[in-house]
Amino acid sequence: MKLIETTVEFRRWRADRDSVGLVPTMGALHSGHEALIRHCRRTSSHVVVSLFVNPIQFGPNEDYRNYPRDLQADARVAGSAGADVLFSPAVEEMYGPDFQTAVTVGGNLTSVLCGAHRPGHFTGVATVVTKLFCIVRPDLAVFGQKDAQQLLVIRALNRDLNLGVRIVALPTVRESDGLAISSRNRYLTTDERRAATRLYAALCGGRDAIMKGERDPAAVQAAMLSKLRAEPLISAVDYAEVRTVPELRVPATLTGDVLLAVAARIGAARLIDNIAVSIHPDGATEITS
Ligand code: AMP
Repeated sequence: MKLIETTVEFRRWRADRDSVGLVPTMGALHSGHEALIRHCRRTSSHVVVSLFVNPIQFGPNEDYRNYPRDLQADARVAGSAGADVLFSPAVEEMYGPDFQTAVTVGGNLTSVLCGAHRPGHFTGVATVVTKLFCIVRPDLAVFGQKDAQQLLVIRALNRDLNLGVRIVALPTVRESDGLAISSRNRYLTTDERRAATRLYAALCGGRDAIMKGERDPAAVQAAMLSKLRAEPLISAVDYAEVRTVPELRVPATLTGDVLLAVAARIGAARLIDNIAVSIHPDGATEITS
């Protein structure tokens, strides 16, 4: 696997290749990222993994400085999962001194859920993904359903700006007790790690209520919230909500595709998780992620 750190060198590598698949990451690679890379390997003739801890998607009091960074370990993981190139530009390479452009996806998609709690976050995400798409020019890009709102924002961006990238979404990879694997799980102490399983338990509580026939979104939200509030190590619940997919609106009643989404703070970590559920008109329900 080749490590490339500049756009000039990347363009030189890219010039001889026809079709390329991209897996954008912030590093600290784990088995969730590996699943994306392996999928990309199966479906693309050339696989690029980008590794960039993007400063403009972090708020002033967030974990940008502490975010785990280990280029050598990441290179080993990316290479063994099938990457041809690890593209790891420095911050100065991506944002030169004269950088003055932002890409904003407007409206509901970026103002609710994480958008309400992390002002500017999705503009940071949309800007860096647009830049990565312009540099890498991928045919296909693979993302995780773990970041469901980010995925919807990227789909909107790709459509609105006619970027022409095939966006592929893969299900969330979980630990055996249900905890969604995340680079930020490294911040957790042993007790906090145990408490973190509450996020998935809360989502499962909401899902089970829907399976049993509950169609009032407020009742499902209350079921999720009570599971989260029962855990003393959860210091704050940013949200526990049911939203329509793909609009992320509050549904009047539960029907069609909906997202159950939670965000909570435990120790130094802010963790997010979600489950997508499809509710058919005949009452049947199906978990879609
Ligand atoms: P990150 O490095 O956290 O920015 O994530 C890079 C990509 O990996 C995003 O598309 C995430 O949605 C995806 N990802 C992160 N965690 C998981 C997971 N547990 N399962 C599947 N995909 C994941």
